[in-house]
Amino acid sequence: MARLSAHRRLRRALGSAAVATALVAGLTAATTAVAAPPRSDDPRSWERALQEEVDAASAARMSEAMSVHPGLVGTEGAARRAEYSVDMLTSWGLDAKLESYDVHASVPRGVSVTMTGPERRTLEVKEPPFPWHENFDDVVVGYNAYSPAGDVTAEVVYVNYGLPEDYAKLEELGVDVEGRIVLARYGNSFRGVKSKVAEEHGAAGVILYSDPADDGFTRGPVYPDGPWRNADGIQRGSVQYIFNYPGDPLTPGEPSIPGTPRLDPSEAENLPGVPTTPISYGQARHLLAALEGPRAPEGWQGGLDLDYRVGPGPTTVDLDLDIDYERIPVNDVVVEIPGSVHPEQKVVLGAHYDSWTYGTKDDVSGWTTLMETARAMSVLLDRGWRPERTIVLAGWDGEEYGLLGATEWAEQHRADLIENAVVYLNMDGAGGGRNFSAGSVPALDEVLVDIAKTVEDPHHGTVYANWQQSSGKQRPVPDRLGSGSDYTAFLDHLGIASADFGTSTPSGEYHSAYDDLHMMRNFLDPGYTYHAVAAAYAGTFALRMADSDVLPMTYSDYAVEVVRHLRALDEAQADAAVVDLRPAYDAARDWRAATRQLENAAVRAEGHGLDAINDALIAQERALIQEEGLPGREWFKHMVYAPGLYTGYAVQPLSAIDDAIAAGDAATAAKYRDLLVESMRQAADTARHAAMR
Ligand SMILES: [Zn+2]
Repeated sequence: MARLSAHRRLRRALGSAAVATALVAGLTAATTAVAAPPRSDDPRSWERALQEEVDAASAARMSEAMSVHPGLVGTEGAARRAEYSVDMLTSWGLDAKLESYDVHASVPRGVSVTMTGPERRTLEVKEPPFPWHENFDDVVVGYNAYSPAGDVTAEVVYVNYGLPEDYAKLEELGVDVEGRIVLARYGNSFRGVKSKVAEEHGAAGVILYSDPADDGFTRGPVYPDGPWRNADGIQRGSVQYIFNYPGDPLTPGEPSIPGTPRLDPSEAENLPGVPTTPISYGQARHLLAALEGPRAPEGWQGGLDLDYRVGPGPTTVDLDLDIDYERIPVNDVVVEIPGSVHPEQKVVLGAHYDSWTYGTKDDVSGWTTLMETARAMSVLLDRGWRPERTIVLAGWDGEEYGLLGATEWAEQHRADLIENAVVYLNMDGAGGGRNFSAGSVPALDEVLVDIAKTVEDPHHGTVYANWQQSSGKQRPVPDRLGSGSDYTAFLDHLGIASADFGTSTPSGEYHSAYDDLHMMRNFLDPGYTYHAVAAAYAGTFALRMADSDVLPMTYSDYAVEVVRHLRALDEAQADAAVVDLRPAYDAARDWRAATRQLENAAVRAEGHGLDAINDALIAQERALIQEEGLPGREWFKHMVYAPGLYTGYAVQPLSAIDDAIAAGDAATAAKYRDLLVESMRQAADTARHAAMR
């Protein structure tokens, strides 16, 4: 894979600006037409100018250029993408640089899965190529990043989705997984959670597979004739325990740069303990068809034409994972557009550019979209626009292995971000399909809806109309953020108001070799229409946050949402009260009153009064951070939002109190209620102080 030499070549290439300009000279034609500057008395005119500038054909060219080679972190393909991105951004006159880390990560040397009983069969661990696939040798075999190496032979047990309740069901059926290899289907939880739950039950190995009931032929035509997963498609993915902490396993809370002390791998609490690997449903079929033992419950029957049984055996498997661990380079691409009035305040937008395979959807689409936004901003800069606050545009590396690049960057810039970051917008999969969706903290609901109403969507009229149809709701609002993408360090670790949006078409290419140009052009975003729509949406958000006199953040909505979360907890303890939540309701209502005062004061504020109000708005989210962190995972410091320990991706609001209620642990529940109260009091004090100036 020649990772280190690729890294050195990249460094050399970036030293040559002339090469950069020559490389992209043919791609800048769209930026040459200079229109008159928009009217300065209309604050939305620059937003409209940006919306008019973004261009589907420009996004398509970048998507095509980046999809020629697979872009796995630590390989030459990822280095090539970073180089291309810096070249393009530089050619538009933007100030692009690399920020690099060296991160402890797994490197697969050989993966083999052999069925050893009742018959012998070597299973395929990589998809076959189609004629249009270039550089297919560089597509990594199906494997799960951060799985430990291992060579185990054991009987197989089918465990459905591998959730805690699935193991409880197996116990009822009298089936023990101790020392056995569990076969779990993807879905309903983060794959690292499946590995962890298997570890807790003493399994010797884990095989993950994509059942056709979830994203295969039962949903519709399969690749290459349709967008659904075919019998060969393998879902790769990380099994890092990101619900403990993401990023470099050896430097939690610190950037992995020279001089940072490293843990011994045996001390790292986000490394999984059981060898885990993924296969396709075409291969899993052989294992399932031979299983005997009790018939699997009705809800466990998948989409394959066979009777699912749980085993154990007589299916046996030899799982042989030859995986090394070493430090790999992680290179973030970072552009800063300095603010003219508040250069210290930062509006940060990010998308990861690394991918499991070609990654035309995940996440070349998000990064291409953000690059197109950057190009449009460069045109606005030529016409005289200057953002009032600094805009930072970031291409993250290593997201797929465990949010590596974004986490290390956030940890490195912690002090500055805590002091000055206004907001973080994440774009994982943005542009790669037709249905709009968004997630955020409640303070950003209103602005995300407002912007959706102003951005055009050629098929729906507006993005908002798209969102209504995609969500099936008359008044769609963003979901709440759990984890699984690069906003995690910004929101959960540093307390920066965060949002995430994407566009998607129902499909089954996720993390397979078939997340490629054929898929994008034919099924996901033909014509690259939604790449342009998403670029307009992201750009409008950036301009709105950078140029508004009063930051469009509504913390009174946040306080109302916390009351809703508290009610859900009270419902959960309706039968047996564990903790008295009244002090938290009181604090939330007082926080709402204080933030209403702040919002009213903002209407008539000017000059320094305005600065104080914006500072107080920025400080609101930060107040929800408590240094102590969540029980057993102190990297997660946000008192309202975190991913669930047993969901991994999905959000679990007020998770410390919720878990303590479920465990009947009154002391922990009261402790985290008090920390929540303290956070909301501090936020309310800050809001009131600024409102009364
Ligand atoms: Zn992604």
